[in-house]
Amino acid sequence: MASTRSRNAVPEQLGFDGMPERLFVCTPSKLGAYADCPRRYRYSYVDRPTPPKGPPWAHNSMGASVHTALKNWYALPLDRRAPGALPTLLKSTWVREGYRDVDQERAVYEAALRWLETYVATLDPQDEPLGVERVVATKTAVLAFNGRADRIDSRAGADGAEAVIVDYKTGRSGLDADDARGSQALALYAYAAQRVFRRPCHRVELHHLPTGTVAVHEHTEESLARQVSRAENTARDIMAAEKAVAAGSDPDVEFPTNPGALCSWCDFRRSCPAGLEAVEKSPWTAVEHLST
Ligand code: SF4
Repeated sequence: MASTRSRNAVPEQLGFDGMPERLFVCTPSKLGAYADCPRRYRYSYVDRPTPPKGPPWAHNSMGASVHTALKNWYALPLDRRAPGALPTLLKSTWVREGYRDVDQERAVYEAALRWLETYVATLDPQDEPLGVERVVATKTAVLAFNGRADRIDSRAGADGAEAVIVDYKTGRSGLDADDARGSQALALYAYAAQRVFRRPCHRVELHHLPTGTVAVHEHTEESLARQVSRAENTARDIMAAEKAVAAGSDPDVEFPTNPGALCSWCDFRRSCPAGLEAVEKSPWTAVEHLST
């Protein structure tokens, strides 16, 4: 998503020695927001007050509930990590927003509980991850990165213990190795985890709970470096756009819209001129197939 305009502006913005004036503090979602749509980034992180958002999405509620239930499963003592604990865990973390009605909410809850029961049956309760919803942070010449990984496992590797990044997914469509390979977030977690835990971390996994499938990619040092470099380029673009706005440029020009399929799912659809052209989705559209 790096634009020619802003990339060309980098030497002026950052100085001729190539060193940034400040590190760009970021998370994967911050970088991803800009890569998806610079205008969405602006609405989320620059404009204050933040433009009004649409109503909460049911699929986000369900995803958050499942993630928290899995986090709390690992917080249980070893002898209580069994599928029987899941109904209580899921009930206590269940987020109710966005559903069409109570019947739909109940059907989605039942589906989520089935996924969790199937998933934890594949886990060894004795396995203690290196981290669960663990924040990993690191710095590069451009970025001060931090992000919360769903899970970081410790697994035996060719040369000793390695860290493995695990990300839970609850969306409708399955995922494959290309998704794991292309995920900048997973690569940045792996890059940071290597430094935080001082051990190799090349393997990243997407665990898709609805299908019970695991999409895997084994990074190399080179592929991690490429993802970090891409993230740094995005950060430079963002900093250049923010500086241009501070210097008087039109924010609508510096943070252009990127109309596309994402607009229908964008929280700022109603605040955005391009979004108003997009088809409106109900807050529960993405979970409807679970309740019919
Ligand atoms: S509605 Fe579309 S163009 Fe507008 S901010 Fe959201 S993603 Fe970007």
